Amino acid sequence: MNLTMGLRKAIAFGGDAEALVCGDVRLDHRTFVDRVARLAAALRGLGMGDGDRVAMLAANGQHYIEYYFGVLWGGGVIVPINSRFALPEMIEQIRDAGPTVLIVDANFAETGAQLAEAALSVKALLYAGAGKAPGNALDYEAVLAGARPCEDALRGGDDLACIFYTGGTTGRSKGVMLSHRNLWANVAVTAGRLGLDESIVSLHAGPLFHLAAGARVFTTAMLGGKHVVIPRFTPADVLNAIARDKVTVATFVPTMLSRLLELPDLASYDLSSLRMITYGASPMPEALLIECMKRFPAVRFAQSYGMTELSPVATMLGPDDHLPDAPKRHLRSAGRPIWSAEVKVVDEKDCELPFGKVGEIVVRGPMVMQGYWNKPELTAETLRGGWMHTGDSGYFEPDGYLYIADRIKDMIISGGENVYSTEVENAICSHPDVLQCAVIGIPDARWGEAVHAVVVRRPAAALTGADIIAHCRGLIAGYKCPRSVDVRDEALPLSSVNKINKVELREPFWSAHARQVN
Ligand code: ATP
Ligand code: MG
Repeated sequence: MNLTMGLRKAIAFGGDAEALVCGDVRLDHRTFVDRVARLAAALRGLGMGDGDRVAMLAANGQHYIEYYFGVLWGGGVIVPINSRFALPEMIEQIRDAGPTVLIVDANFAETGAQLAEAALSVKALLYAGAGKAPGNALDYEAVLAGARPCEDALRGGDDLACIFYTGGTTGRSKGVMLSHRNLWANVAVTAGRLGLDESIVSLHAGPLFHLAAGARVFTTAMLGGKHVVIPRFTPADVLNAIARDKVTVATFVPTMLSRLLELPDLASYDLSSLRMITYGASPMPEALLIECMKRFPAVRFAQSYGMTELSPVATMLGPDDHLPDAPKRHLRSAGRPIWSAEVKVVDEKDCELPFGKVGEIVVRGPMVMQGYWNKPELTAETLRGGWMHTGDSGYFEPDGYLYIADRIKDMIISGGENVYSTEVENAICSHPDVLQCAVIGIPDARWGEAVHAVVVRRPAAALTGADIIAHCRGLIAGYKCPRSVDVRDEALPLSSVNKINKVELREPFWSAHARQVN
């Protein structure tokens, strides 16, 4: 059970089909696996032993996919570094991970040298970019050309395969240890659920340092399909890549989908190859989902709910749930547990709650991480009692559908009542003039916290805060309606993995409050 199996199978009968497309680069499976096996040999030569970590700091590209499988083929552990971080955060991440080798692309030539200096574990720096390798870095292509392709090290099962850092949405990112078996289990179950096979042509539009995109890389490679990589998400690049390279499956977070829909010439692209859009990683406003289904009528949709710690999927709202005759209320849910996952909702004492009661979502199954890297206490706390405590709240309905209420850290307690930001956001987003919104708790002398909405209106719409409050009053209980609304024309701040950054939105309110209290 290892993650390089798909590569070995893809070349067993020739390997002439395309494996990877990135800009003008097109590699067939034979060439791709040859490069992977050379990279593996080169990394061994540079000191990577079994289970040693190798870091990558790069924009999405051909090298990123080669890196994933070169490291695994050589018996190492993948540690992608968040390329949107500032230098001190990157230094912290690389010191935490302790890689033997660091690979950088042309965007990070200088940063790579600084990181290699700051992290004593790094024995070699590889430069995968055009032009001369800077400083002490070795040229990636020269290293590959000089290496003799090696045999697959065949690490697998419970051996560690990677450390992916979490999205950093609620604070500092944590390194999540995932084994070959963890990821294998998830690929097997989700590919089956979605009906994916070797004909898959996957567009990797999200950052490859994050598992939301990484998981689809593993799925594509395990099935022997084709990767289409674009350097970074822009709506036009996504649509051009789908049209040019006949992409069949694309994965997006909701903020990316809302940007795609804003494109005025969306209908002019040939998207006829696209069979499926999968989405997840943050709450999907129901109004946005319905609009997407309308604008991409020939495409099937599927939602995943999960997290880096769950390799990353626990529940799915499948393509069948998005069909016109499926119950509409399920579109507000995160679907049902995948068959390999046990999921339940518990109270603070870890006692299971009945249907309809909101509590913490906990998960058990082969997709649950090995633990947090270098964080034994947090690991023990999160995995207590043999269940992964997600930090998300939600409830089950008797038909087995799970409804995500909120991140526990985002829940607002106003006048003693729990207000789940996702529910309020769904109500606000159903207003036709709303493009995006985020609901946060802000300090309030009377209520403890008050519900505050930050709303981005459609261009030229004359939407006011009073309109939003009136709209919500018709949809949700009074105590859940925003008490204040900030209507904006500019987009909301996003995290490094394109999730709405509520920490940043909350910060001015709470720091002013702290100043007053002190
Ligand atoms: P950090 O743990 O560092 O704060 P993060 O939780 O955003 O960051 P990820 O592992 O990328 O890191 O994201 C997992 C979280 O994303 C889940 O815990 C959940 O809150 C949210 N999420 C994932 N999928 C969905 C979904 N389908 N619907 C709603 N929320 C989702
Ligand atoms: Mg998290």
